[in-house]
Amino acid sequence: MTDAPTTTTEPQAAPTAAGAPLLQVTDLHTSFTSDRGTVRAVRGVSLSLQRGRTLGIVGESGSGKSVLSRSIMGLMPSNATRTGSVVYDGTEILNASPSTMRNYWGDEMAMVFQDPMTALNPVLRVERQITESLHEHLDLSKQQAKDTALALLTSVGIPEPARRLRMYPHEMSGGMRQRIMIAIALACGPKMLFADEPTTALDVTVQAQILDLLQHLQTDRQMAMILVTHDLGVVAGRAHDIAVMYAGEIVEQASAKALFASVRHPYTEALLQSIPKLEMAKHTKLEAIGGRPPDLVNLPQGCPFAQRCRYAQDRCRDEAPALLPDPDDATHLVACHFPVGTAAEQPRHEALADTQLDHAAGDDVVFEPDPEGAS
Ligand code: SF4
Repeated sequence: MTDAPTTTTEPQAAPTAAGAPLLQVTDLHTSFTSDRGTVRAVRGVSLSLQRGRTLGIVGESGSGKSVLSRSIMGLMPSNATRTGSVVYDGTEILNASPSTMRNYWGDEMAMVFQDPMTALNPVLRVERQITESLHEHLDLSKQQAKDTALALLTSVGIPEPARRLRMYPHEMSGGMRQRIMIAIALACGPKMLFADEPTTALDVTVQAQILDLLQHLQTDRQMAMILVTHDLGVVAGRAHDIAVMYAGEIVEQASAKALFASVRHPYTEALLQSIPKLEMAKHTKLEAIGGRPPDLVNLPQGCPFAQRCRYAQDRCRDEAPALLPDPDDATHLVACHFPVGTAAEQPRHEALADTQLDHAAGDDVVFEPDPEGAS
């Protein structure tokens, strides 16, 4: 079994999940037309999320995790097609018009984007960017909006908030800009927050601060939060539940506790093995996941992970596995014919020995811990 990351603490207990979920997604498919054909970016995703809980959605680039978030929020380009169901707070919103969705954005659901430098307007002062959102959604006087903006900057840990309000984004550090993005997202008190790779552009120390801030705000405001990341280490200790995505599908879904206690899908296992751990010796080589995700225009017939999977057998290339409950834990779902740790699991099939695994030396990542011992 693969060790769980050891870098974070458990999230605070969520309130009792009473009543209907705030978000219920059922059999959601999102595809895009392209010159090469139809790109099937999200394929049959179902999930639910209660108020006060954080769902971590984890996967490599191109796994569909960011498209899933935008599909739920209705932030879609004109060449996108969605089918299935997205019920938010009891209302079906999948086919809601853009004008209807504008009533949800900000007030009900908001997103913190990956790169604040591209999401913020470079020619507007911070105050204007926050108060614009407040004026659009709330009936506030000019002074009330300014007071609210000051309180928001304070709540996201920005020192000297009155001075910062008068600044432009380029006058601030990356961490400060991301805090501004979070303040804007929270301006109208959304019930649901999407954080899409919110710390990718930041150094490791600031990453931890921003993630801790998001966790604190989520708990304090009892928001539902979807935390999208390529790094299982980011959601360890911060998410209550985890969905692992590969090739547009959820391949493993469980509470964080259950998933880290007993990883079932080979892809999740490979993701875990690619995370640096504090106890690693200097110059330890991390295990990169060999090969590449499949082409979402021409998906293989069987399991989409088969070409990269160390446990693949003939059946895997013929028959796509369904997402099913684990026999030992009905709440732990896995899409795999031979889950990790089961008696049916077999060593990698001989026929895979010469597949296109890209284990070039340059693919390996060398982890060099901070000399001070910080992670
Ligand atoms: Fe690997 Fe087969 Fe499971 Fe796919 S179904 S993840 S190829 S063992």
